[in-house]
Amino acid sequence: MYIVQIASECAPVIKAGGLGDVVYGLSRELELRGHCVELILPMYDCMRYDHIWGLHDAYRDLWVPWYGGAVHCSVYCGWVHGRLCFFIEPHSGDNFFHRGCYYGCLDDHMRFAFFSKAALEFLQKSNKRPDILHVHDWQTGLVPVLLYEIYKHHGLGNQRVCYTIHNFKHQGIVGSDVLWATGLNRPEYYYQYDNLRDNFNPFALNLMKGGVVYSNYVTTVSPHHAWEAHHGDFGYGLGHTLHVHQGKFAGVLNGIDYEVWNPAGDRYIPQPYTADTFEDKAKNKKALRDRLLLRDEHKPLVAYIGRLDDQKGVHLVHHSIYYALGRGAQFVLLGSATKSDINAHFWHEKNHLNNNPDCHLELGFNEELAHLIYAAADIIVVPSNYEPCGLTQMIGLRYGAVPVVRGVGGLVNTVFDRDYDSLHPKEERNGYVFFQPDNHALESALDRALGLWFEFPEEFETLAKQGMAIDYSWNVPGQRYQEIYEFIRA
Ligand code: ADP
Repeated sequence: MYIVQIASECAPVIKAGGLGDVVYGLSRELELRGHCVELILPMYDCMRYDHIWGLHDAYRDLWVPWYGGAVHCSVYCGWVHGRLCFFIEPHSGDNFFHRGCYYGCLDDHMRFAFFSKAALEFLQKSNKRPDILHVHDWQTGLVPVLLYEIYKHHGLGNQRVCYTIHNFKHQGIVGSDVLWATGLNRPEYYYQYDNLRDNFNPFALNLMKGGVVYSNYVTTVSPHHAWEAHHGDFGYGLGHTLHVHQGKFAGVLNGIDYEVWNPAGDRYIPQPYTADTFEDKAKNKKALRDRLLLRDEHKPLVAYIGRLDDQKGVHLVHHSIYYALGRGAQFVLLGSATKSDINAHFWHEKNHLNNNPDCHLELGFNEELAHLIYAAADIIVVPSNYEPCGLTQMIGLRYGAVPVVRGVGGLVNTVFDRDYDSLHPKEERNGYVFFQPDNHALESALDRALGLWFEFPEEFETLAKQGMAIDYSWNVPGQRYQEIYEFIRA
């Protein structure tokens, strides 16, 4: 099959979170299965150009219809660790992708509506006729809408769309300006409840809802989160829409790329190791301690890696730092916050803990350091309020760090409590799970993990190795997506 992924991120060249990992990892898996995969991405000024090979112009004068006129674009092409990527660069006064950031601008909805339109215009003009378009999150929710309302009449009539929702919280709530800009026009048509009209704000359109309504198949990133979004509150108002379209909606657990995340061959860690040479993991712990000026003593190392956002349960992240330190452990945090109050809070904590030889808070985004922390950590905490899939617990497992997680979303599908899980045999259990979003619940799980480390080190090591043995690669999910593509093509 010929598959084109249209997305706002692709790791490592453009990565704000898990979306980038997924777009890259799934693409590689599909190629390994013999499919032809290409990616269409925005050409951000701040992306990691050092991860693109052979960047050259692929389509010089792409004129993208916009507000009754047209915007001149160039399309560049290059390889991101073997994946063929096309980058769209618009030349207009809006400077859509020259903002020094990926997201967070007031006109984000216009930036990505433009990108969605430009991606289809590029496919049409360059005579690319993929079998499948795989699009992701609200940023590209407009792609299937534009495809079926406009581009199918211009040569793109045989393309099928799979839409993956990575985070229901951000849905792209927009006004009718998007319709005029993209040439969809006809507000009376799109402002219908069975079309793009937002389920709760009657004056707004919802781009994610458009993706759900118009795609041939819709997935979210774990089976449990699919259930939560459909039946619970985590669909953030889209539950009814998912219900209407339940026949084409499913949860497919994300994988992680086993070549990128591989303790036996990770170029960012000083000492490679496997489950058979587990004792070598300690050398990475020593290296991290040296790098972060932490004291080198017989203590467990607890880590948190992730965005500092309400979604991630920041109050519990905060509490886990002090609880771990109080229990005689060390704590390393690597995270970045986009909200100023959360950012200020963690900077305050960082200053407060600055001289503590058992704690380091690194505020910012640092891919290389993340690898070393996974390799060094004994325990990784993921106390999320909600978590569509969660990659950090899966990466932690791969690196022999025992996850302590809250039982929500994909965390339920990937972490099985050593003491209390009733669905998996003891040899398949791999971490600790708590359910209530409060300090006591977190403490009870973290306490069990730390207790095992201190008092039964051999059993702790066995648990860590059991985690390493589980297969969370793209192998199974890649097969599942292949089946979905075949299904919607038929
Ligand atoms: P989300 O997509 O909600 O941000 P996931 O757990 O799905 O969370 O994916 C997070 C990915 O981003 C992981 O690969 C993690 O290692 C990485 N990551 C998150 N924050 C940082 C950071 N500050 N520095 C480096 N990598 C980070």
